[in-house]
Amino acid sequence: MFVDIAERKRAEEALRASEERYRTLVSATTSVVWTTDPAGRFVEPQPGWQAYTGQTWDEYRGLGWQEALHADDRERVLAAWKRAVETGEGYESETRLWHAPSGRYRYVAARAAALRDQAGGIREWIGTFSDIDDRKRAEEQFRLAVEAAPNAMVMIDQDGRILLANRELEALFGYEREEVIGQPVELLVPERSRALHPDQRRGFFADPRARTMGAGRELYGRRKDGRQVPVEIGLNPIVTNEGVLCLASIIDITERKRAEQEFRRYTEELKRSNRELAQFAYVASHDLQEPLRAISGCVQLLQQRYRGKLDQRADELIEHAVSGAVRMQTLINDLLAYSRVDSRARPFERCDLGQPLAQALANLQLAIAESGATVTSDDMPVITGDPVQITQLLQNLIGNAIKFRGDQPPRVHVGVDRKGERVLFYVRDNGIGIEPQYFERIFGVFQRLHTRTHYPGTGIGLAICRKIVERHHGRIWVESAGGKGSTFYFTLQAGSAQDEQPGQYRHGG
Ligand code: ADP
Repeated sequence: MFVDIAERKRAEEALRASEERYRTLVSATTSVVWTTDPAGRFVEPQPGWQAYTGQTWDEYRGLGWQEALHADDRERVLAAWKRAVETGEGYESETRLWHAPSGRYRYVAARAAALRDQAGGIREWIGTFSDIDDRKRAEEQFRLAVEAAPNAMVMIDQDGRILLANRELEALFGYEREEVIGQPVELLVPERSRALHPDQRRGFFADPRARTMGAGRELYGRRKDGRQVPVEIGLNPIVTNEGVLCLASIIDITERKRAEQEFRRYTEELKRSNRELAQFAYVASHDLQEPLRAISGCVQLLQQRYRGKLDQRADELIEHAVSGAVRMQTLINDLLAYSRVDSRARPFERCDLGQPLAQALANLQLAIAESGATVTSDDMPVITGDPVQITQLLQNLIGNAIKFRGDQPPRVHVGVDRKGERVLFYVRDNGIGIEPQYFERIFGVFQRLHTRTHYPGTGIGLAICRKIVERHHGRIWVESAGGKGSTFYFTLQAGSAQDEQPGQYRHGG
């Protein structure tokens, strides 16, 4: 008897302790705890449920609790619950549940387990639910953002399974979303790269940080129809409760690649035709000199020997032939000078432009003296370039400023304006000015605005200037308000000597 009572007491004590533990657990958890009978009905008041849903005991007793579920979720949740009740296996689902304090439905995750009696029959269900609304909403926003992204996107887990795909991905790869979700991402990789892919994926997850995939390699995606699309892929780690995932953003670069190729082809073609043209100008001007010299020598001899010995008409014709030959020689020499900007190009060096300017002024000494010109200048900077050509450039511009003078004695200023890596130069005069409609034209070969009787010249000077400036990666242009003088601007590179190779071809002359 005595032993029996003691044992019962111990058993009661153990039971009380266990219940206390259970109650502590229930009140300490942030989840709501609930219990139902074996058929899934509430048979006693559920304070947690009541507080969350605002339902009264009369409303939720029995199967009344179903009313608190969102109408769209009800069918799915009830089916899962029914299955659990029938099989006695654990229950787990996510649903929107009415939340009285905030006056709206919130996402909750519910779980329940069957509590069995000694015979193995279900005695009751004991379950919990917890509010996962914030997480669900963040997930939903994330999903919407991915969906709205202008690029194709897939999210994969560490095993390379596709968890999420957006509409752009469907369009790019030709799959329906349902066909790729849950599949290995290698589905989207061309066969020849598939074997390597798992290793690359492990590489990413071993050191998960945002990066572009492939670094310099050409990447291709494989469409459902087997066609390969050149792509660029950005990888982003996404940290979730279930560990790190990878969100890949995929851009179709077919169009970009095509445009690049086109561009390369055009540039090549342009370079080639430029080279040919330059060579042609060089060869033409160089090789034409020889026969021209013969013609001009002959007609000059004719002139000396036979002037006044034939008739007057013959004298005139010979005179025309001589001046034509002389003029042609000038033109050919100019053309040769033009093509020498390339063929006689020298490597760039760092040079103080004080020297080329002094040289240009020395070459123009006679013109300056004759016209009574005043030439002033700012301090000349150090630039990177070909000093011989810069001398020619300055000489042509200052020479023009003096040549195209008005009634006043010429006043010419060579100005400098440093702008970081670029230096802006200008040559300003008080001459006859230029009408805006000729601003472009005057830089063309043999383009001039005046007859030779007014101002001597052939119209090659500015064409040479432009070629020199462009070879120096600069720009040249003019500004002028008719009659108020002109200002020619050009830019050159300051900074370190960056050697440039001289012209590709070289000829004797
Ligand atoms: P050229 O001096 O042999 O005529 P350029 O190529 O040097 O050839 O100049 C082309 C034309 O641009 C000139 O004929 C002239 O009409 C105009 N031009 C050039 N420089 C000036 C200037 N400083 N003022 C007015 N017109 C100019």
